[in-house]
Amino acid sequence: MPEVTRRSLLGTAATVLGGAATNARAEAPAANTAAPGVYRYKIGSYELTALYDGIWYRPIDDKFIGNASFSEVEQALDAAFMPHDKLATPFTTLIVNTGKRLVLLDTGTGGQIAPSAGALRTNLAAAGIDPKEVDTIVISHFHPDHINGIKDKDNALIFPRAEIMVPAPEWAYWMDDGNLNTAPADLKIVFLNQRRIFADIAKQVTQFQPGKEVAPGIVTIAAAGHTPGHTVFGIRSGDQSLLVLSDTAQHPAVFARHPDWQASFDIDGAAAVATRKKLFDRAAADRMLVTGYHFPFPACGHLIRTATGYEHVPVEWQTAL
Ligand SMILES: [Zn+2]
Repeated sequence: MPEVTRRSLLGTAATVLGGAATNARAEAPAANTAAPGVYRYKIGSYELTALYDGIWYRPIDDKFIGNASFSEVEQALDAAFMPHDKLATPFTTLIVNTGKRLVLLDTGTGGQIAPSAGALRTNLAAAGIDPKEVDTIVISHFHPDHINGIKDKDNALIFPRAEIMVPAPEWAYWMDDGNLNTAPADLKIVFLNQRRIFADIAKQVTQFQPGKEVAPGIVTIAAAGHTPGHTVFGIRSGDQSLLVLSDTAQHPAVFARHPDWQASFDIDGAAAVATRKKLFDRAAADRMLVTGYHFPFPACGHLIRTATGYEHVPVEWQTAL
């Protein structure tokens, strides 16, 4: 067998593509626009719609992981085909149609974080969902990529009829002016953003204690660490279920493979690691279907235990429900 090289592979590809081109009858114009980021699946009788908001390449430096050397981090990014100075951070929100209510879990970036994110509204339209029909928004935690999509950049509500449910411990931590005043400058921005989002809509906001069932079949579970009130969700209908991991781990190619890593965006790094391992161990042992807010779209799949951590195995894309 002749040796396979990069050059010989690319040469073969060129021959194949060249052959195809001579058979074509007309030039197909390029669309020059992305296709909709919508994926629909069922959990029991519930219809779920994963909606892609886009991706942000978050700049990182040698302080990004507190308990690993930067060369180890660079190796992990390299293994995941990511640039060495940026963490790929995709955003996927989830709509649950229980048959009686439309529930949105987290709201995306509202187009206020990176030009490469903010597609939620376009994708809602592609999915045939009117933002006015969303009854309930449930927030996992108060980082801007989860709450900014409550409003557009001009401060108008994107889901005008929705009740907004937030974890009480999250509200208590971030809305405390003492915590704001003693926060470092980069975290103060996060506190001030929360006041921009919530100050004039406090009447629409309901606080819940983690553990509460916020809608039929949607239970909230305390998962503190990433933030003090960080919350994950269990969705159950019939004999099927889904664990919504929120930010228990960000990109799985980095944080599932390295579950011990404490990132600078975790308020309590040790607690974030303990929570991650507890939930991932359970999900792997029980072969649970999971979804993660920063997992590659459509963000759902399974976790398996490896010798050193976990690996995310994406679902196969289904075209029929
Ligand atoms: Zn996040």
